[in-house]
Amino acid sequence: MSKPVVAIVGRPNVGKSTLFNVLAGDTISIVKDTPGVTRDRIYADCTWLDMNFTLIDTGGIEPDSSDIILSQMREQAEIAIATADVIIFIVDVRQGLVDADSKVADMLRKSKKPIVLAVNKVDSFQKFGNDVYEFYNLGIGDPIPVSAASRLGLGDLLDEVAKHFDLSETEEEEDDRPRIAIVGKPNVGKSSIINQLLGENRVIVSNIAGTTRDAVDTEIVHEGTEYVFIDTAGLRRKSKIKEELERYSIIRTVTAVERADVVVVVIDAEEGVTEQDAKIAGIAHERGKGIVVAVNKWDAIEKNDKTIYEYTNKIKNTLSFMPYAEFVFISAKTGLRMNKLFEVIDMVRENQTLRIATGILNEIMTEAVALQQPPSDKGKRLRLYYITQVAVKPPTFVIFVNDKELTHFSYTRYLENKIREAFGFRGTSLKFIYRERS
Ligand code: GDP
Ligand code: GDP
Repeated sequence: MSKPVVAIVGRPNVGKSTLFNVLAGDTISIVKDTPGVTRDRIYADCTWLDMNFTLIDTGGIEPDSSDIILSQMREQAEIAIATADVIIFIVDVRQGLVDADSKVADMLRKSKKPIVLAVNKVDSFQKFGNDVYEFYNLGIGDPIPVSAASRLGLGDLLDEVAKHFDLSETEEEEDDRPRIAIVGKPNVGKSSIINQLLGENRVIVSNIAGTTRDAVDTEIVHEGTEYVFIDTAGLRRKSKIKEELERYSIIRTVTAVERADVVVVVIDAEEGVTEQDAKIAGIAHERGKGIVVAVNKWDAIEKNDKTIYEYTNKIKNTLSFMPYAEFVFISAKTGLRMNKLFEVIDMVRENQTLRIATGILNEIMTEAVALQQPPSDKGKRLRLYYITQVAVKPPTFVIFVNDKELTHFSYTRYLENKIREAFGFRGTSLKFIYRERS
């Protein structure tokens, strides 16, 4: 299921970062860190009541002269309009309504995206009044008083945001065609891959109607199956600031990955694997998506019989948090292994939705426990009673144990390997949840 995306937009110093950090903070979010990958605070996975959403921070604005602020705010608003399902527009009650707020509000209103207006720095909920109501003049709905710093009014704010979720989700949920996101750094060959696939499969580009976002969706029919490819390359930003471009590229990746079943992480063979590749792959990994690593430009490098092996090892090393990833060595230029790419995508799709019978899972677990004792602490040993698969995409297993405190990631890894030995599950992460049973 694709999670809704919520973006925060507002002038410098109104409290965007404070709000982002509070919403992304430990109170309501599940932040999963991927070892070896540096995380920018550009996006965060949040949970409000029983709803999950991805929060994005559209960016820092340099508070220079006012005309620069306005143009940067427009850029920020454009990114939010292009990528988010709901936009939180934040203003500052202490500064009151300023001209830049009105101009950006006009832009947001025209986009027809759901906008929630947060009036920040209302530090006392006893005595606010006209200073908050003044923001009705923006014409984007009811102002919601909040204090990000004192964590006031956030529940009402999130309730208002969540009201807009259901509507935006249905459209894609009825569509059961596999959705494939092509992600990667600039210039690795994402557009070339899409063009090569289009050429080979002789299908007219049809940017699918009804998609409100900035990712370019392309329908491709391959051997009778319709696929929707989500291309993150299509639109390029004009921004000259390197950090801004990078931020935009990460936001685009997160929002595309969110909507995808399988993510093709494209790596440039000429350049070799980099930290930035790991960061991008980490986004798909954390979201439990099916993953194919496509090493592109394979035509351009000199090879002998060891080259594939060496490349695989090097990439596996850098992407060590996802040992399950599938590899394919391609060339968008010559069309090398494009059929294989579809085969691997299909295999990964199947693995994402594979269900294993409870009986067989328990046989594997019993055997694994007999071969290697579970960990113990202070004389108390972990007991594993029962395992069952509770979900797919990604395959998720619940293990009933005597004491959750005794579980250890290395033993979970061991069990995971045993399950993989039996069923492969290539290209998909597996999720394990422990529950106590006395
Ligand atoms: P940004 O530039 O929009 O990201 O704004 P920041 O989050 O960096 O906040 C700007 C300043 O406003 C900081 O000094 C914050 O401590 C302060 N601030 C943020 N939220 C509140 C609030 O609810 N009340 C008050 N009084 N100050 C706040
Ligand atoms: P994107 O930014 O990821 O969409 O990358 P592009 O598709 O625009 O490709 C960037 C550059 O790499 C272009 O000059 C392409 O011609 C070149 N390129 C893409 N795929 C291949 C390939 O398989 N082999 C070679 N030699 N060049 C490629």
